[in-house]
Amino acid sequence: MNLTKLHHGIYCVDAQYIQPGVAAVYLLVHEGQICIIETGTTLSAPGILQAIESLGKSVNDVSYVIPTHIHLDHAGGAGALMQACPKAKLIIHPRGADHMIAPEKLVAGTRLVYGDSAFEQLYGEVIPVPAERIIIADDGFTLNIHGRVLKFIDTPGHALHHFCVIDEMSSGIFTGDTFGIAYPPLATDSGPFIFATTTPTHFEPDSLLHSIDRILKYDPHFIYLTHFGPLALNASIAKQLKQSVTAQAQIALAMKGQPENRDQRLEAAISELFVDTILEQGGRESKEHYQQLFGADARLNAQGLNFWLVRLEKSENPGA
Ligand SMILES: [Zn+2]
Repeated sequence: MNLTKLHHGIYCVDAQYIQPGVAAVYLLVHEGQICIIETGTTLSAPGILQAIESLGKSVNDVSYVIPTHIHLDHAGGAGALMQACPKAKLIIHPRGADHMIAPEKLVAGTRLVYGDSAFEQLYGEVIPVPAERIIIADDGFTLNIHGRVLKFIDTPGHALHHFCVIDEMSSGIFTGDTFGIAYPPLATDSGPFIFATTTPTHFEPDSLLHSIDRILKYDPHFIYLTHFGPLALNASIAKQLKQSVTAQAQIALAMKGQPENRDQRLEAAISELFVDTILEQGGRESKEHYQQLFGADARLNAQGLNFWLVRLEKSENPGA
């Protein structure tokens, strides 16, 4: 069973995206009501529904489906879950709502990043969500579930359509991709290995650092990462994450104004950064092993960093 019980009525379900341990979906169960936070893809939906059933609950108990942002590993399954859960409302960032109602542009953009055959294998069909079932969560929006309050804060930097969800009861925050990625198998003797995700197309280092600081101000005990799982927060993790934002931005800035083969050069440099950093932290695997593990994330981060550089270059030289 791909369901892990955490605490305070929170469960982690593996979305089985790409492979186990890559993308998480959380169930928050309180007084009989269920919130599904993150959705995985359309292909994740059956496993999520099975997890709900295994808790002795039904689709009628699902009150809210809450993707942190509309990237398809987080929101791709929203339409399928909304079809399956007749009483649920979808809660989404104001910039994401139109894409949930009419996902064509989102799908086309994702096909460009992943390619058509990988897209179909990873995401399946993306199902629209009826507009009347959508609740838009502006910055500061709160949801009261029988006295348990969830607070939504706008956290741009990874994506402009990204919010994080604060759960005071568990002293935890569902951070989507704003608080980076820490796959548990990458942990070393010095603790979790965490890095920032800069995937296309909205990465902005300054606003990401600002959003990370905003999360830290709530002083949560736990960060519920989508990639992957709960993390007991401490100062060294926060420092590591912020350094990862800065280091990747610096690598990219050194290539500003030199667009030739930049995706490839960025990918090599980001992979080297990740591998060097984990080896410095006591990682015991070989360089080649880590290069392999970081491959997909280094590639996506490189693409996102390139988008950022192109934006910078255009804003500095609008006539070009
Ligand atoms: Zn993601």
